[in-house]
Amino acid sequence: MAAESVAHFDAETDVVIVGLGAAGAAAAIAAAEAGAETRVLERQMAGGGTSALSGGLIYLGGGTPVQEVCGFEDDPDNMEAFLVHACGPDADVPKVHAYCQESVAHFHWFMEHGVPFTAEFYPEPSREPPTDAGLIYCGGELAWPNSEVARPAPRGHHPQFPDTAGGFLMDRLIEAVGRTSAEVTTEARAERLVVDSDGRVVGVSCSRDGSDHTVRARGGVVLAGGGFVFNNGDWERTRTTGARSGWAREWGQPSPACPLSSVPFRSPSPRRWQRGSSSIRPAGVS
Ligand SMILES: Cc1cc2nc3c(=O)[nH]c(=O)nc-3n(C[C@H](O)[C@H](O)[C@H](O)COP(=O)(O)OP(=O)(O)OC[C@H]3O[C@@H](n4cnc5c(N)ncnc54)[C@H](O)[C@@H]3O)c2cc1C
Repeated sequence: MAAESVAHFDAETDVVIVGLGAAGAAAAIAAAEAGAETRVLERQMAGGGTSALSGGLIYLGGGTPVQEVCGFEDDPDNMEAFLVHACGPDADVPKVHAYCQESVAHFHWFMEHGVPFTAEFYPEPSREPPTDAGLIYCGGELAWPNSEVARPAPRGHHPQFPDTAGGFLMDRLIEAVGRTSAEVTTEARAERLVVDSDGRVVGVSCSRDGSDHTVRARGGVVLAGGGFVFNNGDWERTRTTGARSGWAREWGQPSPACPLSSVPFRSPSPRRWQRGSSSIRPAGVS
């Protein structure tokens, strides 16, 4: 909607964040800690989103303390080599590079915001450990040809909670949001962006209690409302990429729809199944 058509803004802030899942919580914490007046609009009665229903596995590497304690060598370049390969022909290389270079810092960010990890490797890959063990293989790193592209290292970081840990992760992140000055408004469904005559997004219109509320954003609006499963354009674009026959051939897989699913799993050598019992948790968190 055009900014000129807004007769009255009900509220004004520096940053508006739409959605309080993992992405919205991280954005809210970052914005508030940077000193921005921050408001989160969440359409449900509480935050959490899909993130709270997820396994809670966080793909981190490059030499995190959990990897080190468990005896696995990794570094950002090794992680990047694997991820660029695993992401296929349309990998966003600069984004992957930044993700890998910052990955150890991301681990510490979670710790500092109340998400603890147990420094224990769980040998069964690609599922949430039934215990609170903190590290698994979850990306096919041991499978050929991935194992030849980069030195395999487990990078699935599982927060210190048995089995599916998404609810625990989101409890901790939402608590961390609560320790900042960010204001969370629930049952507020963002419906329209407010755009000025230069095309700049300057606010959000949301629906609350059946009426429209418009919030002006001096700094910016972060859309963290979740995935794009209902966006036919994006879904079609990514599906087409995954199904490209050339890529399937390159990977040597018979199934064009899911080129990774039938890669034979090669068991890790038992000597790598080192277990530790150290608990890595942020100061002051029990
Ligand atoms: C069963 C399952 C298991 C998974 N396991 C893992 C895993 O182990 N590791 C992993 O990395 N990924 C996993 N995923 C994927 C992962 O859960 C998602 O990629 C991730 O949760 C997306 O986070 P998000 O913050 O972008 O969105 P969400 O967590 O969905 O948060 C979006 C929030 O925005 C709110 N919202 C939406 N629209 C509006 C609106 N218009 N106005 C206001 N608020 C709005 C929603 O109510 C919600 O709270 C799993 C997914 C599923 C379904």
